Amino acid sequence: MAYKLAQKHLPSRCYGGVISSTKRGMGMHHAYATSLQACYNALSSRGLSTGFAIQDDTVWQLMPDLRCQEWATGSTDGNNNLISVEIINTSLKSPYPVSDLSIQAYCELVADLTRQGIVKPSGGKFVWRKTNVPHRDLSATACPGDYLFSRGEQITEKINKLLVPQTKLTVYDYWGGHNQQWAFVESKDGSAVVVNRKSGKAIDVPAANYSPGTQLLTYERNGGSNQSFAYKDIKPGIEAGVRITPVGASKMALAVSGATYEAGTPVILWDTYAGAAEQMFTPVIAAVSKGVTYYVLYSYGALKAGKALCLDEAA
Ligand SMILES: [Zn+2]
Repeated sequence: MAYKLAQKHLPSRCYGGVISSTKRGMGMHHAYATSLQACYNALSSRGLSTGFAIQDDTVWQLMPDLRCQEWATGSTDGNNNLISVEIINTSLKSPYPVSDLSIQAYCELVADLTRQGIVKPSGGKFVWRKTNVPHRDLSATACPGDYLFSRGEQITEKINKLLVPQTKLTVYDYWGGHNQQWAFVESKDGSAVVVNRKSGKAIDVPAANYSPGTQLLTYERNGGSNQSFAYKDIKPGIEAGVRITPVGASKMALAVSGATYEAGTPVILWDTYAGAAEQMFTPVIAAVSKGVTYYVLYSYGALKAGKALCLDEAA
């Protein structure tokens, strides 16, 4: 899900105040309001400042400059170096529940602000009540309501998950990069974990979603079946190549999306069918290092063009 961002700047008395270089974390609030507009009106009439307000998948950015001092301590003088987010509750009664969509939008917003360097939690990860701070830890003992407060750990974990860089599989002209070299680490059942030489991470079907079109990623090796692939006789010299098929979905295979073979084309899961050149990979030994054999996996459909399976680090 992607949230929809709108700019609705508050005529806040705090705006234009202290500029801090980077915010250290987030201030989590609930908003006692029935709508984003009602929340805006309330904040505005009280002369308060806050970075954002969220309702479901809609996010309003309320401060034109997110480096400005914001209200969260009850004092416009106290610069707590956080970006405050008001999350609108679905009921105006305690525990002030909020929607799952709002929580998701909050997590994605925080991850986006972090990727942009606007928020810099120490160590690059958020810690509940340290860098993802409930308002009640500063002042306003009931904010956010018990519903949000009790989910603080969970929300923080979700944000941290979104911040793990997810590198995508693509095809790219082979230039000798370690991000283009792969080892097949066999397990006893004959399946293999396919490990990238550069990152040591494994090809991963995200969330074990085996539907056609799923973008393949790499992820820390975790022993999950979504990182386990069947393959036939990976050995050099099989010019036509091999299919790399997830153990969890034997009728699917790694495929170059749309059989287009442009550099950077995503490698996805697709239903196998006879003669699918975009689903075949021709292995050529690139290196043997510390007893591990690394292969370049040329796409059979673009063999002459030298396109090979690649971990796209920019993704
Ligand atoms: Zn609050």
